[in-house]
Amino acid sequence: MSLVLVTDDSASNREFLATIMEHEGWEVVEAGDGLEALAMAVERTPDLVLLDIQMPGADGYSTVAAMRQHPALAETPIFAITAYAMEGDPQKGLDAGFTGYLTKPLTRRRLLAAIGALS
Ligand SMILES: [Mg+2]
Repeated sequence: MSLVLVTDDSASNREFLATIMEHEGWEVVEAGDGLEALAMAVERTPDLVLLDIQMPGADGYSTVAAMRQHPALAETPIFAITAYAMEGDPQKGLDAGFTGYLTKPLTRRRLLAAIGALS
């Protein structure tokens, strides 16, 4: 079974994403902030990471950059999930190390389309 790490400081956002992914047959682990996500990613080497940008403490940009420093996470698909939708932000996300960039409010269809594009 494939493992996805869902990271968001909002418990309801985590539940939304976890429910979709579990329904698709993924094992889900959750983190509520960037530091917790980094530790869990290093420990579990998930097949996919969904990472909120705006979180207290380490935000998504610094968290993805830290994940990319680990060889086991260098090629892992890591998607930013964020309310930021300003001009230029998608490029900033890609520059930081994200595989892709999904804006909130996210729908099940858009999430699965992005993940499906990986294979
Ligand atoms: Mg947030």
